[in-house]
Amino acid sequence: VPVTPTLLYLDNITVSFDGFRALNALSLAIDHAEMRAIIGPNGAGKTTMMDVITGKTQPNEGTALFEGTHDLTALDETAIAELGIGRKFQTPTIFEMHTVEDNLLLALKNRRGPLATLLSRGVNQDMVRIDALLERVRLTAQRHRRAGELSHGQKQWLEIGMLLAQEPKLLLIDEPAAGMTDQETADTADLLRDIARSKAVIVVEHDMTFVRDLGVKVTCLHEGSVLAEGSLDAVSANERVVEVYLGR
Ligand code: ADP
Repeated sequence: VPVTPTLLYLDNITVSFDGFRALNALSLAIDHAEMRAIIGPNGAGKTTMMDVITGKTQPNEGTALFEGTHDLTALDETAIAELGIGRKFQTPTIFEMHTVEDNLLLALKNRRGPLATLLSRGVNQDMVRIDALLERVRLTAQRHRRAGELSHGQKQWLEIGMLLAQEPKLLLIDEPAAGMTDQETADTADLLRDIARSKAVIVVEHDMTFVRDLGVKVTCLHEGSVLAEGSLDAVSANERVVEVYLGR
């Protein structure tokens, strides 16, 4: 049981590229099992923020605390992944020639490492976990199909399943609904809400219909800092947010 509700705390993060501030004193707190939608125009700093959280980019200033004790700015990408921070990019990195089940098996083994895999009681336990993962990402009926044959939406879900196999505490997801049909988009919102009952999720998203469907707190970034935060209704009614979006 967490002592504090805050899982991730970004405090005053600044990232400069040749003097240009991609992030400018950005502060943000994400609670355990909170889903947060991050919006903002192109260039607002959304990707750079994700890069800082995952250790891909080192901030020039500021701290990034995970679980109150781990300073992410002092860790590399591997160490951060091992702490339980998973990231999904837009292009899925699944193995198209393998079945859905094998993709999930590979992700499970990857989580445990070779020695633990050798010593574990193995196959039966894996299958129980895979049953649960398939259920969770709505791919039970696709279990034995090759990943390459899945629809665009299903491929995204498989990758989310592979990330879940790593048992992250925080999932970062970049535009999960991009390119999906309306039905897949609605199912993805459902799936993410389901995941966020036990894990924190940060979703970067441009599709406001999808953000509305998620029904979570929204943070709007602009020029590397937080412009507005709150419900989607409150944020989209914010004068400065309206200006920023209309101005482009
Ligand atoms: P978003 O994801 O919200 O579109 P980014 O975080 O990608 O915004 O970019 C924020 C700003 O930082 C942009 O102006 C972008 O051009 C700049 N930027 C991002 N990465 C780099 C980099 N590696 N070198 C120089 N400028 C960068």
